[in-house]
Amino acid sequence: MIALALLAAAQAAPAIPARIERLLTRAPVIDGHNDLAWEIREGANAKVETVDLKADTTKRPHPLQTDIPRARAGHLGGQFWSVYIPASITGPAAVETTLEEIDIVRRFVAANPDAFAMATTADDIRRIQKSGRIASLLGVEGGHQIDGRLSVLREYKALGVGYMTLTHSKSLDWADSATDGPRANGLSDFGRKVVAEMNRIGMIVDVSHVSDATMAAALAASKAPVMASHSSARALADAPRNIPDDLLRAIGANGGVVMVNFYPAFLSRQWRAWDKARTDYAKSVGVPADVYGPRSAAPLVAWDAAHPEPLVTAATVADHVAHVARVAGVDHVGIGGDYDGISGTGPVGMKGVDGYPKVFAELARRGWSDTDLVKLSQGNILRVMERVEAVAKASAGMPPVDATAPN
Ligand SMILES: [Zn+2]
Repeated sequence: MIALALLAAAQAAPAIPARIERLLTRAPVIDGHNDLAWEIREGANAKVETVDLKADTTKRPHPLQTDIPRARAGHLGGQFWSVYIPASITGPAAVETTLEEIDIVRRFVAANPDAFAMATTADDIRRIQKSGRIASLLGVEGGHQIDGRLSVLREYKALGVGYMTLTHSKSLDWADSATDGPRANGLSDFGRKVVAEMNRIGMIVDVSHVSDATMAAALAASKAPVMASHSSARALADAPRNIPDDLLRAIGANGGVVMVNFYPAFLSRQWRAWDKARTDYAKSVGVPADVYGPRSAAPLVAWDAAHPEPLVTAATVADHVAHVARVAGVDHVGIGGDYDGISGTGPVGMKGVDGYPKVFAELARRGWSDTDLVKLSQGNILRVMERVEAVAKASAGMPPVDATAPN
């Protein structure tokens, strides 16, 4: 009997990768967040056309986690490309820098028309996926990027921006960050107007990076489902910008989606402790600690050899996906890998955009059905987009919200 059971297991095992290949070919991954645009700006001085995304970008002097061959291998079918700028850039410069970021995305999409096409709606995504290309969407990563002006928010929408994260790492006078002290204690009056205007124009409210109080206030204010474009579960890894169970339940009740982040520090307690020790050591010897492996300074390479990195794998990611599905509901979980925002790191075997199938295979081994795996890969975010589009359509004829942030 044992021999028969082993034989059955051996026959079942190879079936899973083939099943995932078929499933993700039919319903490829739509990822909520990728920072390639900023990496091209930093690593290639914004010279977009010098970065050949058709080639293996791991060999570049400034290696990337994203290229077309790996995106194909990973069954990426839709990507919200972040037009991130640091929270330290404020005022009119924040708007200018955001426009440059949008230009970078448009340029790498235009340079690779066989692989990418711009999209703004759920229907666009479906049409582009059918043509075998990767639907390319834009996400603004922080309310500082509108410089307190709803006119700027509306023009971002006109340029094709699909979501705005309410804050990045610093609190604003109208919304608070999870990694800064409170200034708005949730959302200010203007903050609620930002959410109302996003609902009216059909831009998704993104609650990654915001404080718990701001997330609760955004959920109370929004007439449309929200997204967390790249956030994991705080019950499993105690990062301030991971989402606690009560707010996971609230996002489920709101009809939204939590797209799980692959950054090891948001996935694993052990990795967080290791990373903190590593950062403290780097500070003590005066070298930067923000990269891992061959790009590190020499003392850190030695420290890394003496302190092996705790194992974070596709199973760790699957733990977070399963937790969000259990607490918020299986209709409210997605994938937000944060590739090229987590440069040099990532779960084992998932250090680039070819990594997604490993998570799906792990969940399949745990008994997830094809129906639920398709919800995870794209069904849930497409539903959120359609509801956000419907709320905007129902708002047709409403005048623009007329407000400016108080200075
Ligand atoms: Zn982020």
